[in-house]
Amino acid sequence: MDNTTEMKSTAKANFKIAVLPGDGIGPEVMEAAQRVLSAVSKKFNLHFEYGHGLIGGAALDAMDTPLPEDTLHLCRSADAVLLGSVGGPKWDALPPEKRPERGGLLALRKQLNLFANLRPVRVYPSIAHLSPLNSRRLENGVDLLTVRELSGGIYFGEPKEKCDTSGLDTMYYDKQTISRVARLAFEAAGRRRNKLTSVDKANVLYSSLLWREAVEEIAPEYPKVELDHMYVDNAAMQMIVNPGQFDVILTGNLFGDILSDESAALPGSLGVLPSASLGDSVHLFEPAGGSAPDLAGLDKANPVAQILSAAMMCEYGLGLPDAAAAIRKAVEQSFTEGICTADLLSGSESPAAGTTQVAQAIAGYII
Ligand code: NAD
Repeated sequence: MDNTTEMKSTAKANFKIAVLPGDGIGPEVMEAAQRVLSAVSKKFNLHFEYGHGLIGGAALDAMDTPLPEDTLHLCRSADAVLLGSVGGPKWDALPPEKRPERGGLLALRKQLNLFANLRPVRVYPSIAHLSPLNSRRLENGVDLLTVRELSGGIYFGEPKEKCDTSGLDTMYYDKQTISRVARLAFEAAGRRRNKLTSVDKANVLYSSLLWREAVEEIAPEYPKVELDHMYVDNAAMQMIVNPGQFDVILTGNLFGDILSDESAALPGSLGVLPSASLGDSVHLFEPAGGSAPDLAGLDKANPVAQILSAAMMCEYGLGLPDAAAAIRKAVEQSFTEGICTADLLSGSESPAAGTTQVAQAIAGYII
């Protein structure tokens, strides 16, 4: 073996991660995720270099702004951003632009030019009894990913205005914006079960006609991925009637906002739902739920959403699919062994584990 090869095989891959714990349960679930990442770094010979930043209420308390310049700089210079969640009653009376959610989180997403939101939802067999759906609906297994376009559509289209007697919003998409997110969705489907459902309202909306056309144009670049189209009203129904049919769902900003929240109800707890927001350079990974102030500091919060967000960071942010798979497998093992926080137990089973105990167990399975 020559020297170069030897250096390569022993050198640790180094990744800079901006860690923003935020408010409420954020700090404790972040600590849990870092515990799991530490196990991953040992197993795969990686080095995660963490830079901690303030955001939301924590930043307001310390620096009177929900998104300090230092935090923004930290995020821009990182390989990925791992965020907890922000907000809480303490800051609810502030003007909207200063509040943790708008002034902190939404401002950060805008500054990072994030254009796609990914929300995977899986109903794990061992906790399927928590799902609000009848077990018959879950027979095929539920493991879907919604890819929502984040930067365009009716939320941003101009003109928009409200007068005394009328209101106006504009649903606008250009082809480039659609193609960019469509490629991402095709690639995600290619790494999963090769099925992509594009959701629109092409029977009524011109912007949806363009959406369908743009997605069709991209499809030949991904011959292994089977593409179909579904109207959004039908997709909302199919999500309940037969959610197991979906692999990757690709859709615009408004429809994605609604469908991804609908899918979030399927596993029965917000505590297991991660998310990723992808941009031009640095990507952001965070739980789909909020800061759960009712649980903060009690060692009761489910750390799995944050831990699975760290898995998404490994896969989509750092190019470490094996590390991501190891984390997901360890999470599944903790469910199978019944090492779960109270939100995943319906009463009679094993006693609830605390946040720290769940994290320790998951980290322990990664060997
Ligand atoms: P929430 O998601 O914080 O909580 C809703 C319910 O789910 C609560 O009963 C909570 O205990 C439970 N829950 C959430 N995460 C959990 C976890 N990991 N483990 C166990 N149970 C969990 O939503 P909310 O109560 O509407 O909002 C609380 C605060 O969070 C508000 O200030 C809100 O603005 C903010 N928020 C932030 C984000 C974000 O940072 N991305 C998202 C949503 C809400």
